[in-house]
Amino acid sequence: MANKVVKFGGSSLADANQFRKVADIIKSDSKRIYVVPSAPGKRFSDDIKITDMLYKCCELAGSGVDFSEDFQIIKDRYNGIISDLGIDMSLEDEFNAIAAELKSRPAKDFAASRGEYLNGKILAKYLGYNFVDAADVIIFDTKGSLLLEDTVKAVREKLDGLENAVIPGFYGKTTEGCIKTFSRGGSDVTGSIIANAVRAEIYENWTDVSGFLVADPRIVENPDVIETITYRELRELAYMGASVLHEDAIFPVRSAGIPINIRNTNRPQDAGTMIVANDYDFSKESLCHTITGIAGRKGFSTINIEKAMMNSETGFGMKVLKVLFDHGISFEHMPSGIDTMSITVDSSKLDPVREEVLADIRKAVNPDHLEIEDGIAILAVVGRRMKNTRGTVARIFAAMAHARINVKMIDQGSSELNVIIGVSEHDLPEAIRRIYDMFINSEK
Ligand code: ASP
Repeated sequence: MANKVVKFGGSSLADANQFRKVADIIKSDSKRIYVVPSAPGKRFSDDIKITDMLYKCCELAGSGVDFSEDFQIIKDRYNGIISDLGIDMSLEDEFNAIAAELKSRPAKDFAASRGEYLNGKILAKYLGYNFVDAADVIIFDTKGSLLLEDTVKAVREKLDGLENAVIPGFYGKTTEGCIKTFSRGGSDVTGSIIANAVRAEIYENWTDVSGFLVADPRIVENPDVIETITYRELRELAYMGASVLHEDAIFPVRSAGIPINIRNTNRPQDAGTMIVANDYDFSKESLCHTITGIAGRKGFSTINIEKAMMNSETGFGMKVLKVLFDHGISFEHMPSGIDTMSITVDSSKLDPVREEVLADIRKAVNPDHLEIEDGIAILAVVGRRMKNTRGTVARIFAAMAHARINVKMIDQGSSELNVIIGVSEHDLPEAIRRIYDMFINSEK
């Protein structure tokens, strides 16, 4: 039978009211049989996540300080959820076991993992679903890298014959038996792995936004939600700072051809964003903007190099890039002219070695002119439909020209999936707004 894996983030399970919404969502679709919960997150903006409180308890325990007061706050939150939901269960034994473990062996990953573990216990009880401990199915090697094949096998074995299951997110166990977590936000990864293992029809990732937005809402007022985005487009936008999903959550579902649907627990009526493979049938899509999204990041520098007859000097680029390589700096973009080349790099990587880099480039290629320009922002205009649409770049630059924004660098990937533009950092918000207007507002 086709099934859905549903992952709920911390804000979706922050209190009893949120638990009720989650249960309604699950019960409204009989295919939602595998559930991956996060730990209780923030209920209001300056609330503290359970995961952070657990890290704190572990730190106190590690320095031999009494952590019972902080631990009591954690217990109160879980007990509050249990009593508000009116379920008949006690986590007292679990609390005692966790406190005892923290006293004798305060391990960070173990401490943090208990947030999801306890929330999973409550959710399983509330839904009447089976509880499957992630420690039994998510397997890491001794260095902490996920063993995907072993994990998939273990998940299949464990879930085989179970009608449904709640599997806590964020953690697993090493082959040596230690609890190990993914990096922060890692319940997304657990959900993706479970979806791969059970060959889910879809991986639903429920959070507190109705999907990916075309642009940052702090810059563009009320931006549209992206209806459908491909994994490749998502990579481009996420790299430029747009984030809703853990980076490592992509591979397990992408490799299995399973789409991800980002949904909003507080607005289940919204369709959210569908993240699909490249071979998706776009003709079925209803929304047809030329671009999918716009994202930008500050904090770049360009190294500008000029030398007469540069183009005929074999190995020129290689020598320059070798200098960056020797200093451990990776480059982002490298547009070039006949006698000029400019390399965009992350300023924070360049800063500690900037004088050495300049000296080494001089030594390597003896340029006529060499300078570093700081304060550069990079903006990515991403869209799979750009490939077959003429005039896209012209429209981007018309938008920039009308706003009197100087374009410092242009780069278009060979896949024609994105256009990258370098502008001054202070021009970035206006550039994003103008491009949004040009492609989204004017195409409505
Ligand atoms: N609870 C963990 C965190 O706060 C993992 C997650 O929510 O995905 O990072």
